[in-house]
Amino acid sequence: MTRVLDAVVVGSGPNGLAAAVTLARAGLSVEVLEAQPHLGGGARTADLGLAPGVVHDTCSAVHPMAIASPFFRRFDLRSRGVRLVAPEVSYAQPLPDGAGVAYRDLARTAAGLGPDGDAWLELFAPLVAHADAVVDLIMSDHRRLPRDLVTAVRFGLRTLEQGLGPTWDRRFRGDAAPALLTGVAAHSITPLPSVAGAGTALLLGTLAHAVGWTVPVGGTQVITDALVADLLAHGGSVRTSHVVRTHADLPPARAVVFDTVPATVAEVMGARLAPRVARGYQAYRHGNAAAKVDFVLSGPVPWADPRVREAGTVHVGGTRADMVAAERALVHGRHAEHPMVLVSDPSVADPSRAAPDGSRPLWTYAHVPAGSRVDVTEAVTAQVERYAPGFRDVVVAARCVPAARLELDNANYVGGDIAAGAVTLLRALAGPRLAWDPYVAGDGVYLCSASAPPGPGVHGMGGWLAARRVLAARGIHRPPDLAP
Ligand SMILES: Cc1cc2nc3c(=O)[nH]c(=O)nc-3n(C[C@H](O)[C@H](O)[C@H](O)COP(=O)(O)OP(=O)(O)OC[C@H]3O[C@@H](n4cnc5c(N)ncnc54)[C@H](O)[C@@H]3O)c2cc1C
Repeated sequence: MTRVLDAVVVGSGPNGLAAAVTLARAGLSVEVLEAQPHLGGGARTADLGLAPGVVHDTCSAVHPMAIASPFFRRFDLRSRGVRLVAPEVSYAQPLPDGAGVAYRDLARTAAGLGPDGDAWLELFAPLVAHADAVVDLIMSDHRRLPRDLVTAVRFGLRTLEQGLGPTWDRRFRGDAAPALLTGVAAHSITPLPSVAGAGTALLLGTLAHAVGWTVPVGGTQVITDALVADLLAHGGSVRTSHVVRTHADLPPARAVVFDTVPATVAEVMGARLAPRVARGYQAYRHGNAAAKVDFVLSGPVPWADPRVREAGTVHVGGTRADMVAAERALVHGRHAEHPMVLVSDPSVADPSRAAPDGSRPLWTYAHVPAGSRVDVTEAVTAQVERYAPGFRDVVVAARCVPAARLELDNANYVGGDIAAGAVTLLRALAGPRLAWDPYVAGDGVYLCSASAPPGPGVHGMGGWLAARRVLAARGIHRPPDLAP
């Protein structure tokens, strides 16, 4: 007789694995099907063959959410041997005449922001003091009231202030503080200002001071490895190189959890999905994109402002006005002359990432229009060189994955959209279609990917919350213990 699984999970990104671990821990039989020959989706580290002894994070690299998210707190990466280390400077924004620098320490950050020190403190101090409440507001189940209403209102008002054109400059007098904040808002790859971008900036900005922008020692892969090890230890199984295109590609299962974009759910489930759900999923919009460039350097980036050399993450986009212009170009389908570039040098916090001869990986990506096939190696190099003269001299090797090619390695990054959907307020609140429960697609079908709230990032929350729905449908309301 054919075995019927309790659940099958399509896709092995952090959300898919979080769902599978939760289900396996609750005693369900679960199998993960992954299209690629390797597990982990956007949470992988690989030897790209650029230099001996140097490995690269192929997608995500910096993990404040892997420390702060309620799922990972329960899962407890630290006790599993995953060391997340934070640099002194969470992120920095080089400017033509200096830099904005966000230290772990909020007061030190404010002290370095000249005329805007107090404004930075007023913006962040109430959020950093209640960072757990901020995390609860953004990452937990949106169908219940926030636990701390005062912090929720504070967060909401600040998000509106920084998300709306008429108010976002009101608080600041200099260039450094608004640029620093906008560099984080730009993670959303939306036209700026935007409410979704401001929410992103305030969440990640709060975590920068509360927990730090950590990198895992050895690279992001260790997070995936910890999840897979736990899944296998609790009876789950994985199948790689298995693309799920149609319903026939699924083994018999009582529940199907998709760690994919909504269109894949509609395609695979076909007429099994209610027409209104299928329509909503097919209409889901994707956003602009990123093109990745991985470098090998012979030494650190020679940032002109020495404070930037202490930063794990650097937003290379210039002033607030420069970044507004760069992101606006994308809306018109153009490549910006000076694109928004994100840079992470993991060796700043994790010296083990440098090879014995001193060569080290540098992780970067540039914002580009959706579907771009352009090799942005030179554009990224030139942009970094503007703020780090001599950068070209330390580059040993480079490799670009144009936006359109990201999709070949991970079908969720449609046209290079690394957020698995355009980042909007509506999506953050309601999910990929207007529905009371963003994780439930219909009878026995669930969506757990970054296309569902809380959206992009390595936090596992989509997986955790979708898996809780699977369990609830079987009458299991008590969440399983995830501790090692
Ligand atoms: C370049 C880049 C940089 C990033 N930087 C950061 C960062 O520094 N910090 C951070 O927190 N986040 C970052 N992110 C975002 C983060 O990686 C993602 O938001 C996160 O991985 C989403 O997890 P997920 O489980 O929803 O999906 P994914 O990690 O995207 O995994 C989805 C998986 O599903 C598989 N799949 C899709 N369709 C099918 C199918 N039909 N059949 C079988 N399998 C399928 C894919 O192959 C993939 O393995 C970055 C992303 C990119 C691309």
